[in-house]
Amino acid sequence: MILACVLATGYVFVEAQQATRIRPVRQPITPSRPPLAEAVIPPASPPAPEESCDDLSVLVDRSHPLPPDYYPKDLAPLWAYGIPTLGGAEMLLRREAAQHLGHLVGDAAADGEELVVASAYRSYVDQQRSYARLASIYGTEAGTMSATPGHSQHQLGTAVDFTNAAAGYEVWRAFGSTSASSWLREHAREYGFVLAYPSGRETETGYQWEPWHYRYVGSGNAGHLEESGLSLQEFLAREDVLPRC
Ligand SMILES: [Zn+2]
Repeated sequence: MILACVLATGYVFVEAQQATRIRPVRQPITPSRPPLAEAVIPPASPPAPEESCDDLSVLVDRSHPLPPDYYPKDLAPLWAYGIPTLGGAEMLLRREAAQHLGHLVGDAAADGEELVVASAYRSYVDQQRSYARLASIYGTEAGTMSATPGHSQHQLGTAVDFTNAAAGYEVWRAFGSTSASSWLREHAREYGFVLAYPSGRETETGYQWEPWHYRYVGSGNAGHLEESGLSLQEFLAREDVLPRC
């Protein structure tokens, strides 16, 4: 017992001596992470698709709608590019499309072909009115003749409907028999415009033949589309230019 007490006292004494010898020492702070040069940098992930519907070739069809409040921010009046419109009405397209359309219409006129724009940019509300008018005449068949609101390429500000005197200034199939329509089939792609709803592709496009309806996608895309042999919808889906807005 005594021995145990001595040993215990001795231990306390040693411990006290060690305590008096301990001085606070500032240790260098070791970094918790490896230096930057040795850090493992994760590989860059592919950029996320842009949250926008402003790509000039964005796909809009029955399965890919635009929101009601979408409108392009760079709409320009067609008169500014010398483009004749039906009744001289003020019509708009996105600036790049309008510029190219101005060249197209001017070159067609130089070749003796009259092209008048009967319809260009249409807002969601415009399309609502247009579709309602068509539905009041044709009933359910209107669905194969015109896009429902939100599904129209006209809301993109890159689509135009043509007519001329030879077609009685109407937007109908008679236009497809005019020499101006032949000129378009041969030359429109040089200006970046393509026939969106061709004859014989109704199953893929979901719409009847519309010889008057052309859409701007840029001359590069227009050329690639023709080479691909795909419908416009199939081609744009493959290009992954889907509406993201
Ligand atoms: Zn149209």
